Amino acid sequence: MKLTYAPYSLQFRHPFVLAAGTRTETEVVYVTLEQNGVKGYGEAALPPYLGETAKTVCDFLAKADISKISAEDIPSSFKAIDGAASGNNAAKASIEIALHDLAGKLLNKPVKDMYHIKGNTGPLCTYTIGIGTPQSVKEKLKAADEFKILKIKLGGGNDKEMINALINETDKPFCVDVNQGWKDRHYAIDMIWWLNEKGAILAEQPMPKEMLDETARLTEESPIPIIADEAVKRLEDIERVKGAFSGINVKLMKSCGIYEAYKMIQRAKELEMKILIGCMSESSCGVTAAAHLSPLCDWADLDGPWLIKNDPFTGMILNNGRVEIPPKAGTGAEKRAGFSIAI
Ligand code: MG
Repeated sequence: MKLTYAPYSLQFRHPFVLAAGTRTETEVVYVTLEQNGVKGYGEAALPPYLGETAKTVCDFLAKADISKISAEDIPSSFKAIDGAASGNNAAKASIEIALHDLAGKLLNKPVKDMYHIKGNTGPLCTYTIGIGTPQSVKEKLKAADEFKILKIKLGGGNDKEMINALINETDKPFCVDVNQGWKDRHYAIDMIWWLNEKGAILAEQPMPKEMLDETARLTEESPIPIIADEAVKRLEDIERVKGAFSGINVKLMKSCGIYEAYKMIQRAKELEMKILIGCMSESSCGVTAAAHLSPLCDWADLDGPWLIKNDPFTGMILNNGRVEIPPKAGTGAEKRAGFSIAI
């Protein structure tokens, strides 16, 4: 088996504003695992607030002992990848996703069949509207035609103004993501009830991830589901937050890839927690891998490819607003003609 990798920069269509700051691009690293002339592709998406960079991913991959990984044994391979160093979640995900893509191609099966997941369609996919102004909400909605459901980022200090601008322009259902932006529980409870009146479906990570007791109170009093994102990265984190949230946002870049994301979904179901499958700002390479788990989830937030203008892959599409998994072996993510990446 041969491992290659190359950094790349994804350019946003619109500068992306979050409670944590504004960005115009996201660094990623693409990975290929090749065996018998068959190539599997993976991606590490690296929003700066998570602490990994293209350099840390390349350093991790340079040290990877690929003699310990095999397309025929995902669980042992995952153990070897995960055991190589602590942290490095996106780096681990990149090689793990490439291994799934390769394994599926060698078996001539879509990745979802490796997990006995039925169906080719997932939930309706949300389209993300970043923090901005009422005017920017209007602008961004123009790009959201294909989507039947929206997600609006809050925590920028003008939350009510943003929601009012949104519901003035559209009657599409919407979720909100506060990205830990509300620090006061009483404010959070008032806002959640106000958002419920305005038609919000769910709220993601309203309060800082450390404020678990306050979040538990909020969840108890909330008329809509409160979903953990920043508070839950890996399987072990679910035990820590159970009871404090109604559900979890599972992302391959947090879970170190598909294998543990699947386990997180199983565990959340046992605990009767809701599941949102999400993504970082990433291309069709990573998002298409995540799409294979989406039939198991309640909601999907896999709009990464729609927010960038230089996606070097094709893969997941929307079918009447729903996530649709490509009917191909592996993840179904394929290199797009006209983009040169060194893998
Ligand atoms: Mg989120």
